[in-house]
Amino acid sequence: MHEIGLCEGLLDLVGRQAEGRRVTGVKVRIGARHAVLDEAFGQAFAIVAGGTAAEGARLDLVVSPVTVLCRGCGRVSDSHDVLSECPGCGGDDIELRGGDELVLESITFEEESPCASASPAG
Ligand SMILES: [Zn+2]
Repeated sequence: MHEIGLCEGLLDLVGRQAEGRRVTGVKVRIGARHAVLDEAFGQAFAIVAGGTAAEGARLDLVVSPVTVLCRGCGRVSDSHDVLSECPGCGGDDIELRGGDELVLESITFEEESPCASASPAG
């Protein structure tokens, strides 16, 4: 379960930025090439976050696509799956680019002094 390892790295960053504050939400962008499952990643996050500033924080996972370049037909496409063949011509002479990032996009901290922006439901 490689999600655990990924979450450990993330929470290390979160912990450093939290500086003692309580974390209520974490937004993470992860490349499709990591092939993580939302559910598995969420579980791993909950396990690793236990006992840290981010315990119980909401995880918002955004998967960024892999770019698939086909040398056969020249087609460039984005995919959320790690493809082994070109979606255009079916050839396997392809090159995958990107989709291997793991970025901590934002952290939501518990508001100590809420700025009274109560929005109506809906
Ligand atoms: Zn192709």
